[in-house]
Amino acid sequence: MNLHEYQGKEILNSFGVRIQRGIVAQTPDEAVAAAKELTAQTGTSWYVVKAQVHAGGRGKGGGVKLAKNLEEVKHISDEIIGMHLVTPQTSAEGKLVHQVLIAEDVYYPGESEPEEYYISVLLNRTTGTNMVMYSTEGGMDIETVAEETPHLIFTEAIDPTLGILPFQARKIAFNLGLKGNALKEMVKFVTALYTAYDKSDASMFEINPVLKTSDSKILAVDAKVTLDENALYRHKDYLEMRDIREENPIEVEAKAAGLNYVDLDGNVGCMVNGAGLAMGTMDLIKQAGGEPANFLDVGGTADAKRVETAFRIILKDPNVKAILVNIFGGIVRCDRVAQGVVDAYTNMGDAINIPIIVRLQGTNAIEAKELIDNSGMEIISATEFQEAADKVQEVLA
Ligand code: GDP
Ligand code: MN
Repeated sequence: MNLHEYQGKEILNSFGVRIQRGIVAQTPDEAVAAAKELTAQTGTSWYVVKAQVHAGGRGKGGGVKLAKNLEEVKHISDEIIGMHLVTPQTSAEGKLVHQVLIAEDVYYPGESEPEEYYISVLLNRTTGTNMVMYSTEGGMDIETVAEETPHLIFTEAIDPTLGILPFQARKIAFNLGLKGNALKEMVKFVTALYTAYDKSDASMFEINPVLKTSDSKILAVDAKVTLDENALYRHKDYLEMRDIREENPIEVEAKAAGLNYVDLDGNVGCMVNGAGLAMGTMDLIKQAGGEPANFLDVGGTADAKRVETAFRIILKDPNVKAILVNIFGGIVRCDRVAQGVVDAYTNMGDAINIPIIVRLQGTNAIEAKELIDNSGMEIISATEFQEAADKVQEVLA
């Protein structure tokens, strides 16, 4: 589950990580009230108005702007709230901005220039450890840094059973070129950041930029956080941070129906039981010259109701030109699934206007094929994997 910047910062703050402070607002008037409140809390006289959407690169798209007084706060918030923010990480239509974060300006002048760094904590699945990734090249796109100056990106593997050790935190601060008080602050910052990542069951905390202010404070200006959904049952308070307005509406609906569905770009819809078979089916579709439009695992109980829900969800994608149903009947009997497909097809009437290829294999596969072939419906049946692929190719041709 992805979070907004302001929510990520709330979590950081609760673990003692210093942040650029701010207050979230839904309207320009709320933004002005937030700015007044922020000045009372922090003494700041300049503000940054920051669009809250689940996408990075907001600054580049005009979603992060400096405001030097309350009129500018109002005017800029009015501009940003309701805009379709286009950034290098959104589609061409952009993302509708529902709210802004009014944050204190932390790039104020002082004894030294403010400096930006990049620090993230993430799961390294290859090594089975956590990892701190960091760079002196903060504030810019980390993918660009990785491409053009990969020697400026450092990583530190963290053993999840030990957590971050003091020497590791010192090494990170040292490699970032810090000295004196800033070095001590960075050691504290990285240690608290790792704790926040660990204790919140996150799979990523990306802070870009981490700022050294002109008076040598170290703080998080931005926060991109992904929480592990499988651990959310341990964090009831984080569950409320979910903003479904930011998620793919078809995926939200599928999740509510208990289906594992991931939207993809192709033209062949897939309905499969089991994640492994679903992946195999996607490979098969590619081999047959198609592109999968989705990943969909209907689970063990592929009854008429579930099959119908799955059909309806797949058909919401206008790119789908054919649907391949690929079910292995192990515990669930194929003839029951076949009946489910026939019933769903009957219930849906004209809603299904593209070819459906059904391949059922396993217990009672022959009865299932007969059931489909005798139904009088335009469902194409197959028993072999390759046969199903060939039939998909035929209907796409
Ligand atoms: P992103 O573009 O979505 O990554 O959003 P960020 O939160 O990283 O902000 C983008 C950029 O805005 C930062 O890299 C900074 O250069 C700038 N910025 C953020 N906060 C401040 C601030 O307090 N003062 C000033 N002057 N610039 C800021
Ligand atoms: Mn950023």
